[in-house]
Amino acid sequence: MRLDLHVHTTASDGSLSPREVVDLAIDGRLDAVAITDHDTVAGIPLAIDAANRTSLRIIPGIEVSSNDDGSEYHILGYFVDPRADSILAHERRALGGREQRMDEMVARLRRQGLLVEMVDVLEAAGPDRSAIVRPHLARALVSKGYAKSVPDAFDRLIGDDHPAYVPTSLATPEEAIQLILNAGGVPVWAHPRLDAVHRRLQAFVGAGLKGLEVYRPRGTPSHTRKLERAARTAGLLMTGGSDWHDPDRGLELGSFYVTEEDVGGLLEAGGMSTVNPEGEK
Ligand code: AMP
Ligand code: MN
Ligand code: MN
Ligand code: MN
Repeated sequence: MRLDLHVHTTASDGSLSPREVVDLAIDGRLDAVAITDHDTVAGIPLAIDAANRTSLRIIPGIEVSSNDDGSEYHILGYFVDPRADSILAHERRALGGREQRMDEMVARLRRQGLLVEMVDVLEAAGPDRSAIVRPHLARALVSKGYAKSVPDAFDRLIGDDHPAYVPTSLATPEEAIQLILNAGGVPVWAHPRLDAVHRRLQAFVGAGLKGLEVYRPRGTPSHTRKLERAARTAGLLMTGGSDWHDPDRGLELGSFYVTEEDVGGLLEAGGMSTVNPEGEK
C-alpha cells in the first residue's frame, strides 16, 4: 500500500477540491490518502464521496492549529469522527477566530500602504473554503500586484517574522490533543522540530499525544532518524505525509508515500486493517 497521510484541499489552503485531489491521488497510484485540512473537516465527506467505488481509501483527518508561549504547533488528528461535538466546536471557533485574525492582518497591511481588503482574501480563498488561511492572503497580495508569488508574499510581507503577522490563537497544544481524542481520533504532532520535541514532547505525551509525523519529503535522513528515535523512546506511533497543497509547488501527489510497514501502528490504532485473513496485503 502507498499512503500519503497529510494532504490539503480547498476546504483550507489547498488549491484543488477534494474531488480533484482524489483524481490526482489515483493518477499518482496512491492507495490511501488522509485529508488533513487546517481546522476543518469540511472536505472529508466530499473526498469520501469522490473516492466511492474507486480503489482509493480516504482516512478522515484534520490539522489543528495550536499555540503556546509564542510558538505554533500543528496537531494532526487521524480517524476523527467528523461529526463529533469537539470537532464541530473547534471548526466554529476556527471559522470566527481565523476571520478575525485575517481582518487584523489586512488592517496591518493597509497601515503599511498595501491596499488589500478582506473581500480580496475571500475571493482568493474561493467558495469552498471553510478555514481562511494565510496562503489565501498571499494569493490576494499576488493578484493585487504587491507580491510576485505566494512564497514572495511570505518572504517579504506576511511570514512569521513580519509585523503584519498575527498568530492564530485557537487552542493550546494540550487542548488540540484533547479535542482530537474526544472525537475518537489519534493525535499526531505534525512536522515537529527537534528543539521543540526536546522541550515539549513529554508534556504532549502526558496530554495524550499518540504519534509523531516522522516521514516527510523534505526531511533530511538525519532529522528523520532523530525523530524515529524520539518516537521509539516515547512509545509513540510514526506517521508520514507530503503536506501536499498545490500541484505547482513542485511535488506531484503520489511521488512521496509511506507504506504499511512505516505506519502500520497508526492504521491499527484507527481500525484500518491492511492484511486479509490469508495474510496477503
Ligand atoms: P496560518 O495557519 O493561517 O498561519 O497559515 C499557515 C500555512 O501557511 C501553512 O500551513 C502553509 O501552508 C503556509 N505557509 C507558511 N509559511 C509559508 C511560506 N513561507 N511559503 C508558503 N506557504 C507558507
Ligand atoms: Mn497549509
Ligand atoms: Mn502544518
Ligand atoms: Mn499541513
